[in-house]
Amino acid sequence: MFAPFANEPHADFRQEGPRRRMREALERVGAALGRTYPLVIGGQPVETADSLVSRNPACPSQVVGITGRATPEHIDRAIQAAAQAYPEWSRTPPEVRARCLVKAAAILRRRIYEFSAWMVYEVSKSWTEAYADAAEAIDFLEFYARQMVRLAGQRETTHFPGEEAEVQYLPLGVGGIISPWNFPLAIFTGMTAGPVVAGNTVVCKPAEQSPVLAALCFQVLEEASLPPGVVNFVPGFGEDAGEALTGDPRIRFVSFTGSKAVGLRIYERVAQARPSQHWLKRAVLEMGGKNAIIVDETADLDAAAEGVVASAFGFQGQKCSACSRLIAHERIHDALLERVVQRAAALKVGDPANPETDMGAVIDEDAMRKILSYIEIGRGEGELVLGGEPLPGEGHFVPPTLFVNVAPGARIAQEEIFGPVLAVLRAADFDEALEIANGTEYGLTGAVYSRDRSRLERARREFHVGNLYFNRKCTGALVDVQPFGGFNMSGTDSKAGGRDYLLLFLQQKAISERW
Ligand code: NAD
Repeated sequence: MFAPFANEPHADFRQEGPRRRMREALERVGAALGRTYPLVIGGQPVETADSLVSRNPACPSQVVGITGRATPEHIDRAIQAAAQAYPEWSRTPPEVRARCLVKAAAILRRRIYEFSAWMVYEVSKSWTEAYADAAEAIDFLEFYARQMVRLAGQRETTHFPGEEAEVQYLPLGVGGIISPWNFPLAIFTGMTAGPVVAGNTVVCKPAEQSPVLAALCFQVLEEASLPPGVVNFVPGFGEDAGEALTGDPRIRFVSFTGSKAVGLRIYERVAQARPSQHWLKRAVLEMGGKNAIIVDETADLDAAAEGVVASAFGFQGQKCSACSRLIAHERIHDALLERVVQRAAALKVGDPANPETDMGAVIDEDAMRKILSYIEIGRGEGELVLGGEPLPGEGHFVPPTLFVNVAPGARIAQEEIFGPVLAVLRAADFDEALEIANGTEYGLTGAVYSRDRSRLERARREFHVGNLYFNRKCTGALVDVQPFGGFNMSGTDSKAGGRDYLLLFLQQKAISERW
């Protein structure tokens, strides 16, 4: 029915063609900043008393856009609208639902530079990072469409004499989607499209820091003819809109991506069955990380330094998959450090509207304060060898920051900072390196640089993370190449972009008829 899935190619901004298209898109989007976007409930725009003002992190006086701000009453109405839309949408043939996603992918593909430009303004992604985010959104749409068609056709069971048996995959009902700001297009799109193509209807509460991209993505889904009420768009804050959503007895599941603290709070809330609630709510929770890269004494140190710097400082370290601990074998520690420092120091920090910029601003004032407070803690826990001071000026700029001689139990080696701060730890041998790597409560991504086959095989078995990479960076998972999700306090290991993902939003019915 559809051509086989293939990942959307990324742009090469060394070429003049993509550079010109991105410059034009930045100009066009620059002229469209400051617009307002209402909530949309049951297909109807809804004005609100309060609003969310989205600002450019590199230039906070610049307003990217203004969206409505949902209250618990809006959430109530949105759940009602989703419940009303559910019976018809759940009975819509899976291939029809899948076509809506493929259509949305086609729209995004035509506008990929424009969406990338919005990400430069709203979350301060560099051109390359922004384009990769938009390409991943397209991948989620195309991939989940095909997976739903596959699952719908998968009905057979073992034959039992005298009977006919089949299994059916049924959607769950109304879901709450709560997304973060750091992949404002890809994660919002994937978290929405997966449950929806499976036949569920949803209430989407995107992060308050990136509501404009969510609004634009919602418009694409509408243009792709998703019926009113199938996706309801209610940006707002976690403490009121988010709480109202997760506590409501009418929702059947919550899909959340964000911090550990909020994930744990949601886990508790969905576990409480409310009066009139007829089901156990499912919780799909994707949370933080404290990811490590191990480099042993056999490794290619240039490749390792390149991978570490890309993993630690790409998008200012604000990826759940980012490397925040470098564990170096003591024999190559100094040689590796020299290479890492040299590369990190050469990164250009500034306004990402400029194509030469490697690192933009961190998302907002609160994030900058949190990162700087961890840098203060780091000064007492290790030796600062690079960065450490915010850059002067209006934007929230924190340069690449490196601490060495950090103990495995130090706070900067245990807690998620979510910024461009890397702790470097020494290991006497591979045993110790693995022990340090596994020695946090998280288990999201990790990498090993080594030329030693037996160590790589050992890490395959013993490095306990959801996404493990050898001789490459630990960021940049691709849909259906590296299904993504973590162990332990990194979440419920949903494996977004994997072949089992849609099962999280489906239930199986087994039907037998005796002849
Ligand atoms: P966050 O937890 O602060 O917010 C995430 C979402 O939860 C937002 O929409 C927010 O409004 C909402 N929220 C906050 N309090 C809530 C509450 N009480 N009830 C319901 N909703 C509430 O996270 P963030 O700052 O947006 O994102 C960064 C975090 O996300 C990092 O920890 C990062 O590691 C994690 N993350 C994980 C993955 C993954 O796949 N594991 C991917 C991206 C980001």
